[in-house]
Amino acid sequence: MKSRKALVLLSGGQDSTTCLYWAKNRFGSIEAIGFNYGQRHVRELEIASTTAQEAGVSYYIATVNTLSDVSENALTKNSIDVEESVTAGMPPNTLVEGRNLLFLTYAAIYAKSKGINDLVIGVSQTDYSNYPDCREQFIRSAENSLSLAMDYKFTVHAPLMWRTKAETWLLADELGVLNIIRHNTLTCYNGIIGDGCGNCPACKLRKKGWDEYVFSSKFKVQSSKFKV
Ligand code: ZN
Repeated sequence: MKSRKALVLLSGGQDSTTCLYWAKNRFGSIEAIGFNYGQRHVRELEIASTTAQEAGVSYYIATVNTLSDVSENALTKNSIDVEESVTAGMPPNTLVEGRNLLFLTYAAIYAKSKGINDLVIGVSQTDYSNYPDCREQFIRSAENSLSLAMDYKFTVHAPLMWRTKAETWLLADELGVLNIIRHNTLTCYNGIIGDGCGNCPACKLRKKGWDEYVFSSKFKVQSSKFKV
């Protein structure tokens, strides 16, 4: 894919930043796009901007902040607290309905204007948190709909789709960016960079994956399931 250019959806979190480096390694050149959608922690966009700059990648931030007017959730409404635990089978209150569909649509419009066919997004259904727009079925459907909507062949890459969080840490290691991902990304719902607050659901998931990764690398158990 060295002859192709890709557009990475970059939010400044662990997953999308790992995808940035995955794409950098795989494609001839890349650009990144982020979204200001009225999220609780706009700081993530500053972090993403710095990351993109350090990676030598241009970063465009699209403003879609009316999303917070029509969406009731803890990520865009400061009056709603992030739930510490979730009901089995139910999405957590951090779900922003339709977010990935909206973001992919903006990304696709931007990509087509630049002659880019490949989009990269850091969604995963392996450690499934009941976010319906992180599933493989949705991604394939969006890829098809966007291609039809714009009469243009899009390929949506989701390299983390079948990776656990531990396997995502391993990927960062294999790409030689483990320290960048560990210290310069923001996943925490309380807006604390790196290892985060340790208590919110995003930090717990990240830490569980980290512990599993550290344990498996100690015993030199390497994943052969994936090719970097
Ligand atoms: Zn946290």
